[in-house]
Amino acid sequence: MLNLRQKEVIKRAHELNVRFVRLQFTDILGNFKNLAITINQLERAFEEGILFDGSSIQGFTRIHESDMYLRPDPDTFTIFPWRPKEGGAVARLICDIYTPQGEPFVGCPRYLLRRVLAEAKAMGYSLYVGPEPEFFLFETDERGRPRKETIDTGSYFDLSPLDRGEDARRDIVITLEEMGIQIESSHHEVAPGQYEIDLHFTDGLSAADHLMTFKLVTKVIAKKHGLHATFMPKPFFGENGSGLHLHQSLYQNEVNVFADPDDEKGLSALARHYIAGLLHHAPALCALGNPTVNSYKRLVSGYEAPVDITWSDQDRSTLIRIPAAGGQSTRVELRSPDPAANPYLIIAAALKSGLDGIQQRMTPGKPIRESAYELSPEERQRLGIRSLPGSLREALDCLANDPVLREMLGEHTYDHYMKAKLIEWEVYRTQVHQWEIEQYLGNI
Ligand code: GLU
Ligand code: MG
Repeated sequence: MLNLRQKEVIKRAHELNVRFVRLQFTDILGNFKNLAITINQLERAFEEGILFDGSSIQGFTRIHESDMYLRPDPDTFTIFPWRPKEGGAVARLICDIYTPQGEPFVGCPRYLLRRVLAEAKAMGYSLYVGPEPEFFLFETDERGRPRKETIDTGSYFDLSPLDRGEDARRDIVITLEEMGIQIESSHHEVAPGQYEIDLHFTDGLSAADHLMTFKLVTKVIAKKHGLHATFMPKPFFGENGSGLHLHQSLYQNEVNVFADPDDEKGLSALARHYIAGLLHHAPALCALGNPTVNSYKRLVSGYEAPVDITWSDQDRSTLIRIPAAGGQSTRVELRSPDPAANPYLIIAAALKSGLDGIQQRMTPGKPIRESAYELSPEERQRLGIRSLPGSLREALDCLANDPVLREMLGEHTYDHYMKAKLIEWEVYRTQVHQWEIEQYLGNI
């Protein structure tokens, strides 16, 4: 039996002359995948789910247990505005993955996030997230492959003609809004060819869904403009990299419980516990929020990315910043994640860390005043400042030693994620890089 919401979606799809429905899902490593069904299969998709072979999907299942079901979430129905309308439009639905036994599949990142959101709910809290993804636009060659040049040499908040990304950005924003995703603002970022589009804050699950859609739309629209969009965290040595700052707040009965007007910083005791939880789990969080070898080239001094495990109400070099907006807008900005992260996993892990801080009544210590980049090794030691991991390998070790986040991932996801990432690290570690040739070949 279809529920009301599912019936509404089917009706709406017919009204919009939908011919194909893309059933989308995200694998453990954060790749967006999809399968197209025709409109006459939609009812069956809602009723029974659509069978697919999970064994070919990175980190899903072993060959002998490969059958999986896609169950579309009716709340994610939208049209792909860039696909042709003549002969029938294309819609999409984001799916949860189920086993043939009708159980939610433990390797489905969306389910994992749902589980942590439910944990928060049981404690009385709803998570809201405002994501700030950054990205680069590159020129392409005659076959559409990315070249090494960015499309402009503009910098922070520049206008055209220095900003050559304005047309692509405009179309990205318009497309996302047509798909029902609210955008706050967009601008040129500090590095050449680098931009940011800020998504309006929303509940934790929608924020992750929106980020997946955002990445898809950005790539598709860039291509239409003859450009290549990349979420690679640090394309250039000596320039800013791309972050994915996550603004987080907890609500209870529509009230932001991170706010306390009587506190000097406007922060409740609960917000402080949450911050302390994020600080405590920060090294292991990197394994999920900074998932590539390249991610750690971004987490270096001098480029507005965090290096130390600190918090502040002003400085942008810290891991956590408390933006000036107070009252109902009070929030905690986690600045370590980058846009290569699987949004479901990093949002789940950040929330889990914050909840742990609340449960253990952790305290965050004093916020720092001076830029963390300027502290001497002695000062850092005196203040007891720890650093974020310096490499993917270190971050994976931190995750291995973090029982709370390991337990949150569950054995299946933890094992598959670790295995894939350790291989990635090992392949990188054993390469001979250009820098080594230049540094050593002639000199040793
Ligand atoms: N691009 C910087 C980063 O790597 C952040 C710049 C900003 O503060 O928006 O995180
Ligand atoms: Mg930015």
